[in-house]
Amino acid sequence: MADGRELVANVPIRCCAPSESFAPGGICGEPACWERPDAELGGAHFCDVHRGPTDVAIAGVAIVRRVHVVAEIVFNAARTGRAASEDEAVTRLLDAVRAAGGAVSLHAVTTDVGRQPIPVLAGVTSGRRGRGGPGG
Ligand SMILES: [Zn+2]
Repeated sequence: MADGRELVANVPIRCCAPSESFAPGGICGEPACWERPDAELGGAHFCDVHRGPTDVAIAGVAIVRRVHVVAEIVFNAARTGRAASEDEAVTRLLDAVRAAGGAVSLHAVTTDVGRQPIPVLAGVTSGRRGRGGPGG
């Protein structure tokens, strides 16, 4: 297989060791520092815990397969003001993707305001929703 083009973004390389105890996908997924030179692409990188005796440290360039997911992620704002709301939502998204071992190429952030219907929950009586709980 050809090595392919040079990928610019520095996305974490993740351990491919199979594991039933790790979800999702049944692999370890932790950052990988070791590679198995004769393994197939997608099964060649390992973390410190799962490295084998013949694995070598990843140095210089690693051949990786990248999965690109295009999606629209929506949050209801939890802060006041457009800029603060967008900053908080983007930070939350970046943190979640980094925790999952990925990286984000941010293209656009937009905000709108509208009415969101709230489902009626069984057993909840209607009443005035005040600030600060009881007595507030
Ligand atoms: Zn691992």
